[in-house]
Amino acid sequence: MLGYLANESKTVVEVMPTENAWSEEDSKRRRYAIAPEILLKVQKQARDRSLNIIGIYHSHPDNPAIPSESDRFLAWQEYSYIIVSVPNGKALELKSWCLDKNHQFQEEEIEIA
Ligand SMILES: [Zn+2]
Repeated sequence: MLGYLANESKTVVEVMPTENAWSEEDSKRRRYAIAPEILLKVQKQARDRSLNIIGIYHSHPDNPAIPSESDRFLAWQEYSYIIVSVPNGKALELKSWCLDKNHQFQEEEIEIA
């Protein structure tokens, strides 16, 4: 997700879909990864437009929109992590999470502008 920070909140300006870097279908269903070279490319494109990567979104097929332990383990401070739960192939719930200083996810309020 590209956007900017202001007044302790983040504004998403644009979302840029990327491919799941996990190669096996089974891994793809259970976890997500963005290849570092893609992340760098997106970072540069964002900067060219005075935006930043402010977070990452991914889906949880047939699971709630709650971060998994591997989501927490791989997460960076300052990014927001939006998770969409997708039961039976249909997007249902969307939640946003951000790490606190103890590296625990706290849910964030989402405001649709
Ligand atoms: Zn996840």
